[in-house]
Amino acid sequence: MKKISVEQTVEMVGKEVNLYGWVDTKRDHKKIVFIDLRDRTGIVQVVGGEDFKSLNTEDVVWIKGLVKTRPEKLINPKIKTGTIEIEAKKVKVLNKTKPLPLPVTGDGHNIDEEVRLKYRYLDIRRPRMYKNLALRSKFIDLIRQHLFKKDFLEIETPILSETTPEGARDFIVPSRLQPGKFYALPQSPQQYKQLLMVGGVEKYFQIARCFRDEDPRADRAYGEFTQLDLEMSFVEREDVMNLVEGMMIEIYEKLNIPIKQKPFPIFTYQEAIKKYGADKFDLRTEEDKKNGIQAFAWVIDFPFFERTPEGGWTFTHNPFSAPKPEFMKDLLGKKNIGNILTTQYDLVCNGYEVGGGSIRNHTLEGLKAVFEIMGLDEAEINLKFGHMIEALGYGAPPHGGMAPGIDRLLTCITGETSIREVIAMPMTSGGRTAIMKAPSVVKDEKLKELGIKLT
Ligand code: ASP
Repeated sequence: MKKISVEQTVEMVGKEVNLYGWVDTKRDHKKIVFIDLRDRTGIVQVVGGEDFKSLNTEDVVWIKGLVKTRPEKLINPKIKTGTIEIEAKKVKVLNKTKPLPLPVTGDGHNIDEEVRLKYRYLDIRRPRMYKNLALRSKFIDLIRQHLFKKDFLEIETPILSETTPEGARDFIVPSRLQPGKFYALPQSPQQYKQLLMVGGVEKYFQIARCFRDEDPRADRAYGEFTQLDLEMSFVEREDVMNLVEGMMIEIYEKLNIPIKQKPFPIFTYQEAIKKYGADKFDLRTEEDKKNGIQAFAWVIDFPFFERTPEGGWTFTHNPFSAPKPEFMKDLLGKKNIGNILTTQYDLVCNGYEVGGGSIRNHTLEGLKAVFEIMGLDEAEINLKFGHMIEALGYGAPPHGGMAPGIDRLLTCITGETSIREVIAMPMTSGGRTAIMKAPSVVKDEKLKELGIKLT
C-alpha cells in the first residue's frame, strides 16, 4: 500500500491508508487511546486500543488504518485534518525514542537558545521551524525561476580564496601544501563576480555563502550568511535597481505577502538622515506590522569615503564601486574626497538593510584611485588587488550588481525576532556551530603538518 502524507488523509475518507510519522501527543482514555500522528505536513488524530498503550510521544511509528469522518461536534477546526480521524488497524513502532531534552511541540520561543541549537535536529521538528525552512526553500526557488527567465547563469565561485574586503575580519584556513600560507574564506564573491563579467558572462547569480568574522550582534548571524549575489554587464544603477525590485515584487506576489509601496520609494542618503536619522528605517505603521506588510525603500547617493580614526580615508560601502559619473573627475584627481558620491544603492525593509550593490569601477584607473585614496601604495595595491587591476585592463565591460541578504529578508517576512530562526543550523551567538563542537582543538600532528605552533 502506498505511503500517504498526513495532510492527504482528508481526501481518503472510507479508505485504508498507510501512514508514517511521530507520535506527537497521546491521550489515554483507558479502553481507547488517542494519538496525534505528526509528519512534515501536519497532525492527524488516530484512535487505537491496547496496542497504543506502550507508545510514547516522539516514537516513530507506522500505522495502517481506516479514514473516518468525525461526528459534527468532534470536528476540530484548528487543524487541517480536523474533519476526520484514523481508526488504527495495525501499528508498528519503527524506533522507540529516549526522553527528549526539549519539547518539540509549541513554538519553542521560551526554550534556552543554546539548548535549541545543541539539539537543532529535534528543534526543527516543531512545525514553526519546518514552515520557516519550507518558506526559505520556496523563496530560493522563486529567485531562481525569476532569474533563469531573464537569462542569468547560476555560477559557483571559490570558497577557499583570498581576502575580499567587505569591512569585516576574514576567516583564514591554513594551507598544508604551502606551509605558513593561508586561504581566506570570502566575505562575498565580489571580485569573482566582477571577473565573470570580464569573462563575458553578462548575467550572473549565485545563492552565495559569505563568511565574516564580526563581533556577534543580536540581529546578525555570526560567521556565515547567505545572499543572492548577482552581477550584470552594460547596466546603469537604475537597471540593477529595477531588476531587483521587479524580482522582489514578483516573488512577494507569488507568496501572497503584501508590500507597502510600489514602486519602492527612493531616498537619498541625505534625505534619509534628515528624515529618519539613519540610513535604514521602518516605514510601517503599527497596523502594517500586524498585517505582515513589508515596507521596502531604496537609499542612494551615499558618500563614497569616510574618515578613518587615523585621519585617512576608507570606503563607506564597497571599494569596487564607481563614483557617480559626475564625480569621476574628482576621484581620478583625488580631490574633493569627502564629497564624492558613490553609485551604491541599499535596499531597506522594515528598518533593516536587506541588501546593497553598486555600479563598479570598470576602468583600472578608477579602481586604482580608490585604493590610493585609501592610502595603499603601488606595491600594496599590486599585492592585494593586482589581479583585479590587471583584469580590468583587458576590456572589462561596464558592470554592476547587488546582493540581497536572504536570511534577513526571510526574517522580515516571517516576523521572527532572530535571524537564526530562518537558518537550519546557525551558529550560537558565541560563535559555536549548532550540534557539532566547532571550533575545536586540533591534534598536535595536524598542526605540525600545517607548520603551525600555538602560543
Ligand atoms: N559585495 C557586496 C556585499 O556583499 C554586494 C554587492 O555590491 O554586490 O555586500
